[in-house]
Amino acid sequence: MTQNTVQNRKARLFIYSAVVIGVFFIMAIPFYYKHAAKEKDSVTYSRMLMGTIVEITVMDETTESDKAVTAAFAEIKRLEALFSSYMPTSDVSMVSRNAGIGPVKVSPEVIEVVEAALTVAELSSGAFDPTIGSLAPLWGFSAESGRAPKREEVDKLLPLVNYRKVTIDKAAQTIGLKERGMTLNLGGIAKGYIVGKAARSLQENGVRRGIIKAGGDMTIFQNTGSEKPMTIGIQHPRESGKLLGEAFVVNGAVATSGDYERYFMAGDKRYHHIIDPKTGFPATLTQSATIIAKDPVTADGLSTAVFVMGPDAGMALIEKLPDTEAVIVDASGRVRVSSGFKGDISNSAK
Ligand code: ADP
Ligand code: MG
Repeated sequence: MTQNTVQNRKARLFIYSAVVIGVFFIMAIPFYYKHAAKEKDSVTYSRMLMGTIVEITVMDETTESDKAVTAAFAEIKRLEALFSSYMPTSDVSMVSRNAGIGPVKVSPEVIEVVEAALTVAELSSGAFDPTIGSLAPLWGFSAESGRAPKREEVDKLLPLVNYRKVTIDKAAQTIGLKERGMTLNLGGIAKGYIVGKAARSLQENGVRRGIIKAGGDMTIFQNTGSEKPMTIGIQHPRESGKLLGEAFVVNGAVATSGDYERYFMAGDKRYHHIIDPKTGFPATLTQSATIIAKDPVTADGLSTAVFVMGPDAGMALIEKLPDTEAVIVDASGRVRVSSGFKGDISNSAK
C-alpha cells in the first residue's frame, strides 16, 4: 500500500471517527459500524480522497486483500478526476467552461451520473439540482468563506440554476449547459456513485464482504451465503460522537446529508453547504436526512434532495419509492422514520 495508507489490522468493535478540516468547516463522519467480535479477519484501510477520509473495510481478509484495496483506491482516484469541481481538467469542469458555447464529450461514467442527477432532480421537483454550481462563486459549497452573500447577489445568479437546461446526447456522449455562466456540480451525487464503483472493484478482485465509507456515503456488500445484517450507526446531527440510532443493512447503501458537516455560523444563523434551489440559500427544514437504498447513486442524490425538500415532502417521496427508506431529523430535532425502515432509532435528536 502507499505511504498515506493506514492499515488497521485489529478487529474493532466500533469504528467511529470525526475529522475537523480547516477553520471554518467541520466534517463529521456520520457512521460507525460494528463487527461481531469473532470477525478477526476484518481489516480497515483509510486514505484521504475526494476531500474526505475514505475507509475500506475488508471483512474476509486474504493475502489478496491489499491488492484489491489498492485497485479500489485507484478507481476512486480515477473517478474523482472526472467529477471534481475543483480540478480544472475534470469532465465536469470542462462542461462548465463550455456553458453557453457547446456540449462537451465526456466519459461514459459522467453521462451515467448526470442522467441519475436529472432523474433525482425530476423526482424531487428540482429540490436536487446539479446546476446548483452556478451559485458556487457565492457559496463555494465548502462553507469556507464564512460569509453569507447578499440577497441581490443570489438573485442575479439564481436563474442559472435550472436542471432543465442540461442536455445529454448519449449517442454523441456529450453533456451541455445551455446558458453562459451555468456551472455543473455533482457534489451531491458523485460520491455515492464512486463508492459504489469502488465496491464493485473490490468484488471483482475477490473481496466477498466489505464496507466502503466516504464522508456521508457508505456501501455495504456481502456475498458469502450467510448474510447477516450489519449495524450502521447514524450520527446525531447536533451532538458529535453521539448516535441517533442504527440501521440494519445486509447489502446496499446508506447516505446521509446533514447541516453539521460543513457550515459556519453568523449570529445565530447556520450557513451550510446544501442549498435550496428555490431560494439560493441553505435549506432550512432539515438537520439531517439519511437514505437507505440498494443503489448508492440514488441514495446519495436522494439524501441531498430529501434534505432540501424537508421532512413532509421528503418522506412522501421516499414512501413512493420501492426499497428506499429514510431517517429524517427535522429542524426542531424531531426524528421521522419511513415505514419499511429496519433499525433502531430514538425518536428525538434534541
Ligand atoms: P456531502 O457531500 O457533504 O456528503 P451531500 O451528498 O448532501 O453531502 O452533498 C452536498 C453537496 O451537494 C454540496 O457540497 C454541493 O456540492 C451539492 N449541492 C448543494 N445543494 C444542492 C442541491 N440543492 N442539489 C444538488 N446538489 C447540491
Ligand atoms: Mg447527497
